[in-house]
Amino acid sequence: MADLGSLCVYCGSSTGVDPAHGEAARRLGELMAERGVRLIFGGGRIGLMGALADAVLAGGGSVIGVIPGHLEEREVGHRGATELIVVGGMHERKRRMFELADAFAVLPGGLGTLDETLEIITWRQLGLHDKPLVLVDDGGYWAPLRGLLEHIVERGFARPDTRAFYTFVDSVDDVFDAVAAAPAPRRPAQEELL
Ligand code: AMP
Repeated sequence: MADLGSLCVYCGSSTGVDPAHGEAARRLGELMAERGVRLIFGGGRIGLMGALADAVLAGGGSVIGVIPGHLEEREVGHRGATELIVVGGMHERKRRMFELADAFAVLPGGLGTLDETLEIITWRQLGLHDKPLVLVDDGGYWAPLRGLLEHIVERGFARPDTRAFYTFVDSVDDVFDAVAAAPAPRRPAQEELL
């Protein structure tokens, strides 16, 4: 994929117990700002998502947050974002984030992060898009998911070619190479999603 304009990053609204994940989020934010890659994210100011957005902004980068009105208070809508799009609900949030992104990266996170990640994989499985997805296995955090995805293929509940729908990398430093190595998305597919 040649030109990465916007990267949607899914990550925790908590920081987790390992401070290394916060450092990874900040490092990814710095790299995005350096490269002029716009951040698309869930719009909160808390957890890894807040750390990531702060780092992009501190580096002079551009940040678009997409947050449902009902979560604006709970996840503390990031007022410093270049643009904060307030939407009507979770489905609209996920769709807007998808539409705005050229590619997706996943940092450590919880159930919301997992939901968002699996939706991008399942939409790809259905042929609804072909945007790259990179999972950052920071400190081995996503190893159980990697094992589960492999298990599902091995047990015949997903086609072997679904392995090509995502790439695991060990460090945020490898995200951009992984996106660049992915074939460019062939067509705008978002109008087919609804
Ligand atoms: P978490 O990984 O659980 O900390 O959540 C990360 C982000 O995903 C937060 O902004 C949550 O609001 C969001 N989220 C939580 N549940 C869902 C869901 N079912 N669908 C989409 N996003 C969600």
